[in-house]
Amino acid sequence: MGRKETLSRSMRYHDRLKVKCRCGHEGSFSQAEAVQVFGADATPYDIRKRLRCSACSEIGQVEVSI
Ligand SMILES: [Zn+2]
Repeated sequence: MGRKETLSRSMRYHDRLKVKCRCGHEGSFSQAEAVQVFGADATPYDIRKRLRCSACSEIGQVEVSI
């Protein structure tokens, strides 16, 4: 998934967006959830910048993959 790929272009219906914080906390979003939360035009770069970890409350420390 490249830096310029948006959610709507890079995710299929059954894909899950996986996020992992540097503290070790992991989570995932379904395609529908990810689009609802971040917007269809969001890129992995946008998501990384915006996502706050629910475990350690740090922002911008997550790795994003599909
Ligand atoms: Zn964390």
